[in-house]
Amino acid sequence: MRTSLSRPRVAVLGGGVIGVATATQLARRGAQVVLVTEAGLADGASGRSLSWLNSFGGMRSEAYHHLRLLGIDRYRTFAARTPSFDCLKFDGGLTWAAPGEESHRVAFEHMRRNGYDAVWLSRDEVPQWAPGVNPAAIPDEGAIFNPGEGWVDLVALVQHLAGEFTEAGGVVLAGGGAAGVVVEGGRAVAVRTGAGERIDVDAVLLATGADVPGMVRPFGVEIPDATPQALLVRTKPVDTALRVTLNTPRVALRPAPGGALVMDSDASAAEVIGHADGSYEVKHSTVEQLLREATAVLAGGPQLELDSYGVGRKPIPGDGEPVFGELDEVAGLFIAFTHSGATLALIAGELLAEEITTGERSPLLAAFRPSRFR
Ligand SMILES: Cc1cc2nc3c(=O)[nH]c(=O)nc-3n(C[C@H](O)[C@H](O)[C@H](O)COP(=O)(O)OP(=O)(O)OC[C@H]3O[C@@H](n4cnc5c(N)ncnc54)[C@H](O)[C@@H]3O)c2cc1C
Repeated sequence: MRTSLSRPRVAVLGGGVIGVATATQLARRGAQVVLVTEAGLADGASGRSLSWLNSFGGMRSEAYHHLRLLGIDRYRTFAARTPSFDCLKFDGGLTWAAPGEESHRVAFEHMRRNGYDAVWLSRDEVPQWAPGVNPAAIPDEGAIFNPGEGWVDLVALVQHLAGEFTEAGGVVLAGGGAAGVVVEGGRAVAVRTGAGERIDVDAVLLATGADVPGMVRPFGVEIPDATPQALLVRTKPVDTALRVTLNTPRVALRPAPGGALVMDSDASAAEVIGHADGSYEVKHSTVEQLLREATAVLAGGPQLELDSYGVGRKPIPGDGEPVFGELDEVAGLFIAFTHSGATLALIAGELLAEEITTGERSPLLAAFRPSRFR
């Protein structure tokens, strides 16, 4: 938006963590906000995310690294201000590579140079820093411990933020089917709900996760899309001392509320069969193998039982970096399409809400504009 209004009317499409976090920030700033989502809140990637809060490694731009650090910072503030919220932990992350893989040594040195807290642990030191991990699973060269990392349960976070949002006067319209943006004269002027209702607004945020690229294409905007399919498996409650988030060559896992574990891996995601009608098929053997990989990295090798799994798309832009901000082609239409949306949700929501309500562009989002693909 070029001008700032005192109480702008804003529609947020998408009830994932990015949409809800931004809607909450908008409502806090006095905007009149309606959040429109196709089905339930957190029914997309946010409902089946590993949500490791991190900026591990050195393979991303400086701007993206900085934004992720700010994301973690906002979670720390949230944790301090909301002590009753029990679904956010900063117990650290432990990562190891396949034996002989050099890239982790490079990543470690990069993190140390940049002040990202990282400790190289020998196998024998791991139990002291990361109880619950099976030392025998760690390669001879050891593992990287990042004490400042954590995890969040996004379903609980979305519920919490949605409560704040409605208390601040925001309105949630959930379950009405796929909504769309109404553009007139090169400007986003309304949204149309799945039920056909038109809601006139001053600005729209498209936070529809993996659907963002397809929803902006009719406006002549191409956002390169590298969205893969993903699988997250949840166990029944298990007796384990594990507190850290574990990233290993064959499985990534972390504790979850209620004593469960959640886990994923690239190999298990690759075995998911996607059908043309948008449905997915997950083989029993895929889930069993993932559970076995998790058992192997846990001290005492506990038997893990499947509770449930979530499968679907994981939004990832073509160049791997976030896409945030207003479209040059359609005034008043903002988009948010990102990988690592768990780590980024609170800071992205804050910066997008600031841009939408003030009309001033944040330098922190300069590297992530949709126009970079033109
Ligand atoms: C297996 C897995 C592991 C992950 N691990 C991590 C991690 O370790 N760390 C990290 O930071 N991030 C991680 N992520 C990424 C993170 O979870 C996502 O980036 C984040 O949840 C995306 O949130 P979102 O709000 O953009 O999208 P979503 O959560 O997908 O929400 C989009 C919403 O839009 C709705 N919608 C779509 N189309 C329409 C429409 N036309 N009208 C109305 N509503 C619509 C959908 O129903 C959905 O509710 C992981 C994701 C997955 C799947």
